[in-house]
Amino acid sequence: MLDALKESAAAEGLTRVRTVRLVVGQRHGALPYALQFAFEVLAAGSEGLFEGARLEIEERPTRVRCRSCGCEYGEDQAVGWALPCPACGRPVPEVLSGDELFIDYYEGEKDCCEGEKPGAPSPRTAGEGGWNEDKAESRPS
Ligand SMILES: [Zn+2]
Repeated sequence: MLDALKESAAAEGLTRVRTVRLVVGQRHGALPYALQFAFEVLAAGSEGLFEGARLEIEERPTRVRCRSCGCEYGEDQAVGWALPCPACGRPVPEVLSGDELFIDYYEGEKDCCEGEKPGAPSPRTAGEGGWNEDKAESRPS
C-alpha cells in the first residue's frame, strides 16, 4: 500500500512529501511501530521523496453490530475470532469499523515551486477528492 502512495505522489508531481496520515483499523492488527518501520524503509528507498516525512497513524477501534439483536459492541466485549454477541451469543456480526486501511491524506511540495519563492513552501493536500481508497474496502498492504 505504501508503494501505491509513492506512485500516487509521483503522479501528482510531488518531489517531496512532508506528512502522511494513515488510518488503520484494529482488525488489521497492524502495530503502529511496524507501520512506522515499514514507512521508514520506504522513505530510505524513495530517493528523497519521503525523506524527513512524518507518518501519522490514526487507529480505529473495532465496532461491530449483532445481526440478530442489533446491539453494538467492541472487540473487547466479545471472545474469539467469531466475535459472538455478548447479549444473545450470535457469532459473526456486521463490522461497523475496524477494517479501515487507507491513506487519509498526504502533504508535499512540487519541484516547480522550489527556487521561485524561497522561504515560502506551498504545501499541497491531496485529501478531499484526491487519492483515497474506498473506506469500505480493505486490502493487504
Ligand atoms: Zn445479539
